[in-house]
Amino acid sequence: MKDENLDIIIIGAGPIGIACALECKKRNWNYLVIEKGALTNSLFNYPLNMTFFSTSEKLEIDAIPFISNNPKPTRNEALEYYRRVTTSNELHINLYEEVKSISKDNGSFEITTNKNNFKAKKVIIATGFYDIPNLLNVPGEDLPKVLHYYKEAHPFTLQDIAVVGASNSSVDAALEIYRKGGNVTMIVRGDAIGERVKYWVRPDIINRIEEGSIKAYFNSEITNIESHQITIQTPEGKKILPNDYVVALTGYQPNFKFLDSAGIEFSKDDKHIPVYNDKTMESNVEGLYLAGVICGGMETHKWFIENSRIHAKLIAEHIENSI
Ligand code: FAD
Repeated sequence: MKDENLDIIIIGAGPIGIACALECKKRNWNYLVIEKGALTNSLFNYPLNMTFFSTSEKLEIDAIPFISNNPKPTRNEALEYYRRVTTSNELHINLYEEVKSISKDNGSFEITTNKNNFKAKKVIIATGFYDIPNLLNVPGEDLPKVLHYYKEAHPFTLQDIAVVGASNSSVDAALEIYRKGGNVTMIVRGDAIGERVKYWVRPDIINRIEEGSIKAYFNSEITNIESHQITIQTPEGKKILPNDYVVALTGYQPNFKFLDSAGIEFSKDDKHIPVYNDKTMESNVEGLYLAGVICGGMETHKWFIENSRIHAKLIAEHIENSI
């Protein structure tokens, strides 16, 4: 355990945490990024063959060029980009260290991790939303065959797979598993494939469903999961389907408990949006800032890299003017 005094602590080394570190470095502040996993841990955990919907220049931070082979970069290219930005700029980052608590005492912050204690004048929380999946809350969800993250199709060849959801992640997984020889059934709560599905992918999934290569139940939900079958509720009544794996890609949510324990307040509606000033990104706790996709609360589609990379600059300029 070591005790360290810093100007700024940034929690989370995702794209936006890294953008904040670059702003601190430019100003010669004594800063540290603390990341509980690998560098850009969320991106690292994305599907291996994932392609971003943004073009590469929209994912750039601090105007550092992101060269990609195609207009829409892949996960691997993004990992390469953020890794090179970090190492070339010699950013100060502690990896595999989890922040457990943030408290304020006499105007400065105390940050406790699983390894160290730190003091800092300001804290930026850029912890994203990819660590806590939205659960189905049905019996059998705790079986090992139920997955809330999708990596690649190979394990699902010649298997009966239920893909839950109709967003980008679910559609990408359904198409990839189908093309690698899995027998895919989509279980969709709404009445259609999501409107936000990438415009070049949406016709593909709709055509596969129409031709019957991928089966889809709309206005339907899983109600029970057992080792070799699932029960679904459809508009035509209950159905039992043979099943080897459930790939439930029903979204994720920020760690509200963590924010709450740091003193952050939320909107009273079910969006649960954290309170912050959108000109400065300062939360209701003075000196404690929010950056990146965490700012959307349950509205996880509101912020992405493209439109939240600006947070880093807003925060640095506000801190600059207040110290
Ligand atoms: P994250 O990248 O999630 O980073 C947060 C980091 O904080 C993580 O590394 C996490 O491990 C760490 N952390 C969390 N809690 C702690 C703690 N207590 N202590 C220490 N570290 C902690 N956006 C776009 O702009 N374009 C796209 O095309 C695009 N495609 C996407 C595709 C998918 C499948 C998904 C899921 C998202 C996509 N997004 C896209 C959204 C955006 O890429 C991500 O949400 C992005 O990672 C957000 O960056 P962030 O830095 O705010 O959060």
